[in-house]
Order: sequence, then structure tokens, then C-alpha cells
Amino acid sequence: MSRRTGKMKRILSRLFKERQIYHRSDGVVHFISMSAKTQVALAIVLLAAILWVAYASVNVVFKEQIIVAKEQERLVMQTNMSKRIHDAQKAYDDVNYLNTTIERQFDETMDDIWSRHRMLANMVERKSAIDQGLADQVEGLSAAGGPNGQKPTNGNRVMIDVTPGEPTPRQSRLSVLRKEAALESSARSRAVQTEGDAAREAIQSMEKAAAELYTEQLLLLASVEEKASKKIAELRQVIDSTGVAADAILTPPKITNITLAQGGPFIAPAAPDGTPIRFYQHANRAATMIDELDSLQDAVNHLPLSSPLTVTRRFTSGFGVRRDPINGKHSSHHGIDFAAPWASPVTATGAGVVIFAGTRSGFGRVVEIDHGNGFMTRYAHMSRITVKRGQKVSLHHKVGELGSSGRSTGPHVHYEVLFKKRPVNPRRFIEAGRYVFES
Ligand SMILES: [Zn+2]
Repeated sequence: MSRRTGKMKRILSRLFKERQIYHRSDGVVHFISMSAKTQVALAIVLLAAILWVAYASVNVVFKEQIIVAKEQERLVMQTNMSKRIHDAQKAYDDVNYLNTTIERQFDETMDDIWSRHRMLANMVERKSAIDQGLADQVEGLSAAGGPNGQKPTNGNRVMIDVTPGEPTPRQSRLSVLRKEAALESSARSRAVQTEGDAAREAIQSMEKAAAELYTEQLLLLASVEEKASKKIAELRQVIDSTGVAADAILTPPKITNITLAQGGPFIAPAAPDGTPIRFYQHANRAATMIDELDSLQDAVNHLPLSSPLTVTRRFTSGFGVRRDPINGKHSSHHGIDFAAPWASPVTATGAGVVIFAGTRSGFGRVVEIDHGNGFMTRYAHMSRITVKRGQKVSLHHKVGELGSSGRSTGPHVHYEVLFKKRPVNPRRFIEAGRYVFES
């Protein structure tokens, strides 16, 4: 028992000491004795009553204010709640927007890459088809050998130096292209408005990869362009070396259409600010070149670039003015003569269609072949003809056998090349054929 409890007891026993209440009725005095316990109980009941009355009164008096306060509290809570819902909605919208933005940029980037890829694939494919066409021709020509039957001695040597002293070395040209592509890519990279570092990083790394791919594609395209341009120069030189200008032979250029794998004309996309994208400018140029290469290859493949005899032969008479072998007078010789054993096979010097097979005065048994593009060849003095008029012949198809029919002094073949019906020097064509198979 602490001192404090003792003190309380003392105070309580002083306050509530035993009391007697006296009252007198009918001359008799009564008294009620009240113990300390009873007094405490009464006091508690009294106090409770007072408190309840006070609470009730306050409640009645301040009821209005309490309701108003509670209402205000409720309103504040509601406002807070709707603000939080709004924030959550906004956060969701942001994430959603970001998501669709990233997705859209990804799709756009992939579309760009694919469209360039298809274009590249298309060009590489076309160019390799042209290369194959030329390779076939080269193979056919090598089978015949050079003008006098010699085989190429040093393999596929490039005889023609088409690019004497390139203005800029290849390496620096490549690094210039690389720099340009990088600049272009960074200029095109879209400004991303986002708070999220992760999102920005994702887009940046995607754009970086796309930019690297763009550079690689541009470089690949440039190399296609470069190779096409080199081949164009070579083929033009081959044609020009025949003495007939390439431009005189070539069909007018086709309208250039970069066609995608899906087909249809291609409209080169531009950057969002409207500046043309370098890749598509190069692609247009490359497509034009490939078209030209196509025409050139077609022209070269139709040129009579071989010799009418694939067997060992002897060149006996050249083109131009000569002394006539029969009457000794000076006269024009519109072809060249090769001597070889009797009945040696005489073969087409290029692909074409037989337009004459029969006898002509002076020429004896003669075959004439139309090679297209204005070219015609004539094989005369044969002992036998083995093709018919209208027959399609390929390079080195046998047209007849060597003989001495017509105005001839001995077994030989008289061979002419005509361009637009005018005789040109066949020897130059045979020389040009060497360029093809040696280049
Ligand atoms: Zn002749």
C-alpha cells in the first residue's frame, strides 16, 4: 500500500464520514444512518446524472455545428478520394500513351527497315540476274576463244580500266557515307516526351540499332551502285569498241520504277520534315543504273561478238578496200574472210533469228541472221546450209558448213556484220567479244 492510497482513504473518510439524518414526524424523532459507502454511491449517481444532463444539453445546443463539421469532413474525404482516383487514371493514361507511342515508333522503324530491305533485295536480285546473263554470254564467248581461236591465257582478267584515278579513294567515300547516315539518323530520331527513363532508354536503344542498320543498308546500296556503275562503264566500252556507239544501240530508257516485292510503283518516303531520305535518293539512282545495266546487258547479249568459226582458222582478208582476188582490181570488201578445212562448222556469232537461208549471187550459199537492235550478220560461200528461215539460233549454233560456193577462189567463209543495213568492221566486234569474256 502506497502512501498515496492511504492519503486518498483519509480524504474520502473525512468527506464521507458516517452521517445521521434526523427528521421528526408526529413528535417522534427518527434518524437514518448513512454509511460512507452509501454516500459514495449516491455521489457517483449524482455525478453521472449531472454529466448526462451536461452532455445532452451540449448535444442539443451544438447539434447543428456537429452535423456541419461532419459534412465538411466527409466532403474533404471525398475530394481527396476523387483526386487520388484521378491521379491513378492519369498515371494509367500516361503509361498507356507511352506504350502505344513506343509500339508505334517500333512499327514505323520496322516498316522503314523492311521497305529498305525489300528494295535492296530487289536490286541485288536484279543485278545478280544481269550478272548471270553476262556470265552465260562470257562462257559462250570463251568457248570460241579470241579472234584467231586463242584461249584467254590469264583467266578472267579485267582488260578495261574504267575508272582511271577515282576522284576519292573508296575508303574515304565510305566514311563520308557513314557520317552522313549517322547525321541523318540523329536528325530523324523523334523527340520522345516521356518521364520514364526506362521508356526513353528503350526508344533510344531501338533508334540506335535502327540507325546502325540504316548505315549498313546505305553502304550496301552504295556498293551496289558502285558495282553497277563500274559494269555500265565496262559494257559501254565493250559496245563502243565495236565502232558503233552504245547510245545508238540502246533502247530508250524505261521509266524507272523501284518496285517493291509487293509490286506497284514506289513513292520514296521522306523524313517527317519533308527532306528526302538519302537512302531513297541513292535507291532511285541505283534503280536507274540497274535499268541501264539491264539494257546494256541485253544489247551486249545480242551483239555478234564471236567468230563464225570456232575451229582453228586463218584470217585471210580484212575489211575495207582491197585488191579483188579474182579480177585484181581495187574494190570494197564488206566483210572479213577466214580460211579453214572444207565443211568446218560455221556458227552464229550471236543469238538471233535466221532471216535468209539460201543462195545469193556472188555469196553462194548464204545465211543471214537478225540479232535485233539493228544488227545483222551474213555467212557466205558455204557448202551446206543447216538452218531454215525464221529459225531462232543461239550463240555458236551451227548454221552451215564451210565451202567455196559463189564468187570464191577457195574454201573460206566470208563474214559480214551490218548495223542498220550498213556494213561495219566485224573484226572490231570479235575484239570487243574478247573484252567481254576477259573482263
Ligand atoms: Zn570476203
